[in-house]
Amino acid sequence: MSIAQTEETFPDIREGVRRLCARFPGPYWQALDADRRYPTEFVTTLANEGWLSVLIPEAYGGSGLGLAAATAVLEEIHRSGCNGGAAHAQMYTMGTLLRHGSEGQKAKYLPKIAAGELRLQAFGVTEPTSGTDTTRIRTFARREGDHFVVNGQKIWISRAEHSDLMVLLVRTTPREDCAKPTDGISVLLVDMRDAVGNGLSIRPIRTMLNHATTELFFDNLRVPVENLIGEEGKGFRYILSGMNAERILIASECIGDARFFIDRASAYAKDRQVFGRAIGQNQGVQFPIARAHVQMTAAAAVVEKAAALFDSGVQPGTEANMAKMLASEASWFAADMCVQTHGGFGFAEEYDIERKFRETRLYQVAPISTNLILSHVATHVLGLPKSF
Ligand SMILES: Cc1cc2nc3c(=O)[nH]c(=O)nc-3n(C[C@H](O)[C@H](O)[C@H](O)COP(=O)(O)OP(=O)(O)OC[C@H]3O[C@@H](n4cnc5c(N)ncnc54)[C@H](O)[C@@H]3O)c2cc1C
Repeated sequence: MSIAQTEETFPDIREGVRRLCARFPGPYWQALDADRRYPTEFVTTLANEGWLSVLIPEAYGGSGLGLAAATAVLEEIHRSGCNGGAAHAQMYTMGTLLRHGSEGQKAKYLPKIAAGELRLQAFGVTEPTSGTDTTRIRTFARREGDHFVVNGQKIWISRAEHSDLMVLLVRTTPREDCAKPTDGISVLLVDMRDAVGNGLSIRPIRTMLNHATTELFFDNLRVPVENLIGEEGKGFRYILSGMNAERILIASECIGDARFFIDRASAYAKDRQVFGRAIGQNQGVQFPIARAHVQMTAAAAVVEKAAALFDSGVQPGTEANMAKMLASEASWFAADMCVQTHGGFGFAEEYDIERKFRETRLYQVAPISTNLILSHVATHVLGLPKSF
């Protein structure tokens, strides 16, 4: 990371994404939010213009760029007031297929994903009873001839209704029969177009933000064995690298959110006159904006470091976690600051601030909650005793 890079990496990417986002202004998102509708036009445009395939190698029709470039895409989407949550999974779930899929699987799916003909937006990990303790997932895939037969339940699986494919984590050997809890877990690529109504049913969950999240029920869903990614029983390891990418990409969305709030608050504080002067002239108003900028800048440096490590071939578990935690806290501080700076107008839907406020809150819980990150740092980095 060079000093010159810290302000604006990938200026061409950022400019291109900003131009695209300008076609999807606040009223577009406000209308979707009111009806909890999926931003199909926005996601289709992103895919058609190649922004969702930056991580797919050129040999499969993508741009062959690294994670750092992908963070620039998502950061700009969020800084523009849009939301990448509708589309970001295509970037990190694709990595599981790219790194661990067979040549046949990659040739079959990646070019179509890169061309925007196939949507890979669903990542099925979380279950109602296991929560964050992923090794306790119960969704089970039993081998029957040339198929796996899947039974179980997932929760909070976002975009499942808007995806053609899903990367699904299942147990293929019961936990108690494995040497290690992380053994016996496998990754299946589920073709949603065949599955829905044939063993898979989807129940949407309405949440405080427009995130198209759902609950999935598997009742003897048959998945061809050829859709197993990598080796049976080794799936936990395969998704870990995807999870690091996911945390870094989501951290970049938080940085974009924080910049959005800081931009909006600065502009409003310069403009809004109360007691005969701009509210931003009061240090009580300007200091929280400045503090948000300081926190965002520090978090952005850690996100950049994590992405650079990832692109160098390292699996930056600790850095990805720390980046996600710092960025989600920076965006939440900035969100709260922005509402306060706007006074009553911070609550008006047409300002987009209350919507972004709700949206950015998610990232202290998903894809991994702050306590679990602190636990990782305490035990893996500092050597403190494990609590679980
Ligand atoms: C809108 C939304 C979209 C999502 N999308 C997806 C998706 O697409 N795919 C997917 O697989 N999942 C998805 N998730 C799930 C998300 O990853 C989980 O909600 C998140 O990982 C937290 O898990 P949990 O909800 O089961 O919380 P739990 O594991 O039940 O934890 C609840 C609280 O207890 C704390 N806690 C738990 N154990 C400990 C401990 N030992 N020490 C200290 N604190 C602890 C946690 O930090 C948390 O604050 C989504 C969630 C939401 C809300």
